[in-house]
Amino acid sequence: MAPETPGSESRETQETLSNLLHETRRFAPPADLAAAANVTAEAYAEAEQDRLAFWEKQADRLSWSKRWDTTLEWNPPFAKWFVGGELNIAYNCVDRHVEAGRGDKVAYHWEGEPEGDSRTLTYSDLQREVAKAANALQELGVGKGDRVAVYMPMIPELPITMLACARIGAIHSVVFGGFSSAALSGRIQDADAKIVVTADGGYRRGAPSALKPTVDEAVKECPGIEHVLVVRRTGQEVSQTEKDVWWHDIVDRQADVHEARPNDAEDPLYILYTSGTTGRPKGILHTTGGYLTQVAYTHHAVFDLKPDTDVYWCTADIGWVTGHSYIVYGPLANGATSVIYEGTPDTPHRGRFWEIVQKYKVTILYTAPTAIRTFMKWGDDIPAKYDMSSLRILGSVGEPINPEAYVWYREHIGKDRAPVVDTWWQTETGGIMISPLPGVTSGKPGAAMRPLPGISADVVDDQGNTVGNGGGGFLVLREPWPSMLRTIWGDDQRYIDTYWSRFEGMYFAGDGAKKDEDGDLWLLGRVDDVMLVSGHNISTTEVESALVSHPKVAEAAVVGATDPVTGQAIVAFVILRGNAEESADIAAELRNHVAKSLGPIAKPRQILVVPELPKTRSGKIMRRLLRDVAENRSVGDVTTLADSTVMNLISEKLPSAK
Ligand code: ATP
Ligand code: MG
Repeated sequence: MAPETPGSESRETQETLSNLLHETRRFAPPADLAAAANVTAEAYAEAEQDRLAFWEKQADRLSWSKRWDTTLEWNPPFAKWFVGGELNIAYNCVDRHVEAGRGDKVAYHWEGEPEGDSRTLTYSDLQREVAKAANALQELGVGKGDRVAVYMPMIPELPITMLACARIGAIHSVVFGGFSSAALSGRIQDADAKIVVTADGGYRRGAPSALKPTVDEAVKECPGIEHVLVVRRTGQEVSQTEKDVWWHDIVDRQADVHEARPNDAEDPLYILYTSGTTGRPKGILHTTGGYLTQVAYTHHAVFDLKPDTDVYWCTADIGWVTGHSYIVYGPLANGATSVIYEGTPDTPHRGRFWEIVQKYKVTILYTAPTAIRTFMKWGDDIPAKYDMSSLRILGSVGEPINPEAYVWYREHIGKDRAPVVDTWWQTETGGIMISPLPGVTSGKPGAAMRPLPGISADVVDDQGNTVGNGGGGFLVLREPWPSMLRTIWGDDQRYIDTYWSRFEGMYFAGDGAKKDEDGDLWLLGRVDDVMLVSGHNISTTEVESALVSHPKVAEAAVVGATDPVTGQAIVAFVILRGNAEESADIAAELRNHVAKSLGPIAKPRQILVVPELPKTRSGKIMRRLLRDVAENRSVGDVTTLADSTVMNLISEKLPSAK
């Protein structure tokens, strides 16, 4: 708790987030985009008037084998959507486009990391490949309701495997290919999977990176695994076990037709474990009809997807929910042409992303703030070398986007034409929940703006009362939504405790947010990261954004460290931009800059210039470890870090800041 300091605020103020940032820039939608937009402002009014009718209309964008009887059955906090309806997701994502005469349309332009290694799959190709994989899985004894663990690089066989599972009603559990054998075996055991689909390896930073040995290790701990299906990707040496089956041995000889049987709207589609930055991983369960309805609708609305002319690229890994919903299910349900890239953005050079945009004339790009800040750090001259005039919409997801990163993205990638859509959602929500609509919304840098039509989000104080405009607090969802998680796999109680117990009758997302004077929403990061300085709750995001708005700073992470005077004091870790020199007075310069942007209350006690920041494997800053450094403790568990040596680099910088 904060000590009593003169002028300290009332209890009420302490329990909501201070609202410090004042951002006045606005970007209206381009007129041509607005004139032809898939979704207009009317959608808000329509959904407002009859939310369930609105979602029924979106469900009608799909092809159902049997129409549902009841749109929503809500026994809080357990929801069933489109009850009694039947559909097959693989049919919706693939076959129906072929049947509609669009079989020659490209579904995926796949770009391997080694240059020149690429593959094109049309919807007809995808139909054949998915049929063969579905037949092979059935030959291996996989049936409806069985769990299939998937541990693969970003190769076409990954979405093919997911669609094959969906086709036969098996439940996939994709585990990000960077996770350890312990993480993999824990997830296999929790889901009780009977087969693992993997590859010998994938390409990462210019070299083959093995996956199979990790699977071998993991499977030793998983007696329930009957087969390991292995794609040959890199050709590297792999040890063989009696459970192994090569993909080319079994899949290639299958018939390339497969009858898709309808599944129930509430049949499970997949389990996806949240990354575990906050404790034991949770197996988030998504089902069929509502999930596909929302991911297809949001992909159509937020990215204004025009299937005949757009080339869409989401740079996430399919191992994260963003890849599930916006590389696989949403885009395919909409008949989109997408790019999939296997590797890292700096291989073999730092212009690789922009080279890919230029090569495929990408029109819609969806990436993460961590990537954008990295590109800022590398310098403006790199994207400037490529022709990116095809880009018309830019998306962001994963963390709050700092206003400066948003403006940089717009300017240097979008050439000041393409609007930025900052999309807030989670593994648990399955699909985008809060986002601008590119043809409707005048964007504010750093704001996710409004809940999408049909979604009801709010910001509440500690007591669960809605905050007024200008207030801050906890982000909640007030009504069930079609792609919501149905439970935590095997643990209904944990589902209730984690998401539905903090506030009566509301889903608590774990994030802080504020409403500005217009009622638009600004996401402020996880509530666990909020700092309490002299009686003010201050979000790390706002201080980080103020730091990033200084021309010398590319990236910043801020934590609250125990302080005898102020309760907590702000300690900032910053990475400088490529062209910025580390001068002796940089800390003072940045401290003053923050005080000027946000007010003296937010002035960091300490600023450390560091070469890297600790990030999770999905690229999010891990503030917990930085708090350990700031409070002079030994650094906690680093196993979920993408690169565990980063903490040594940071600790080395420490004495100079004292
Ligand atoms: P874990 O739950 O295992 O700790 P995680 O929360 O990082 O991991 P995800 O479900 O991938 O896993 O991420 C969702 C979270 O990411 C959100 O709760 C929010 O904190 C953050 N986030 C995602 N998109 C945005 C956005 N546009 N603006 C602000 N924060 C975002
Ligand atoms: Mg989370």
